[in-house]
Amino acid sequence: MLVGGIEAGGTKMVCAIGEIDEVSLKERENIGAVQVRILERVSIPTENPAKTLPRMADFFAGRGIKALGIGCFGPVDLNKKSNTYGYITKTPKEEWADCDMAGTFQKALGVPIGFDTDVNAAVLGEVTWGVAKGCDTAIYITVGTGVGVGVYCNGDLLHGLVHPEAGHILLQRHPKDTYAGRCPFHANCMEGLASGPAVEARWGKPAIELAACREVWEMEAYYIAQAIVNYTLTYSPQKIILWGGIMHQEQLFAMVRNRVQEMLGGYVQHPLLQGSLEAYIVAPGLGENPGIMGAFALGLRELA
Ligand code: ZN
Repeated sequence: MLVGGIEAGGTKMVCAIGEIDEVSLKERENIGAVQVRILERVSIPTENPAKTLPRMADFFAGRGIKALGIGCFGPVDLNKKSNTYGYITKTPKEEWADCDMAGTFQKALGVPIGFDTDVNAAVLGEVTWGVAKGCDTAIYITVGTGVGVGVYCNGDLLHGLVHPEAGHILLQRHPKDTYAGRCPFHANCMEGLASGPAVEARWGKPAIELAACREVWEMEAYYIAQAIVNYTLTYSPQKIILWGGIMHQEQLFAMVRNRVQEMLGGYVQHPLLQGSLEAYIVAPGLGENPGIMGAFALGLRELA
């Protein structure tokens, strides 16, 4: 059986087809028991809906997929009772505002469509098949062009009023940070202070050219750690998955873990939170694929 997945991003749309053994179909109530292999994947530039969506639909048309999952950049409407369920709502990418993502593919392909945020898809991928498999509460944080946080809570993706926007959590400024921040909404939110473009604007060079500059990463770790401490205190996750372009500076993991330990101050008591936090704050288990695997899981959940 074939399943489709879309990782819908602001610069590219990754579309993929996954294959599942027929025998494992019966097990689909427990999606984690199903093995999915990525058969084919394309990347289509995100231009505008009129141009981009038909190219994406063409990729899946006639391929016999039984379901499609979409992990989409947001904000999006995830309320199934809403008239605009499955839409991208208000976004700085104006041409995509009020775009009916789920409905477009439902009409084009006639299969069940699973739909959620890009980061919720990524955390679902990791709890289904990756490093957080078996956790009932986990967080996926991506620190890159923006900062996004997917939340899996008590065995399901967290939506609530809209969906978590924990990348915009307000942080205490580093005493030495004079950079104004780049979020148009908040003076001191995580995305505004810690995203890749914020690092570049603050230090005058892209992150990749600052690898040897300890001061840069100490400040970055200070911000990421504050956010993780707040998520630890509010969501009580069993695993925190940290990724995105900025985390390719792998020295950051140890710096973040140390800072988290220091900022928690020993307040939360659990064996996982003792010592170096290497089993608590981790890189994805699915490499570069948590988003697309999570999209497959969204599609399979809808089918089940
Ligand atoms: Zn913000």
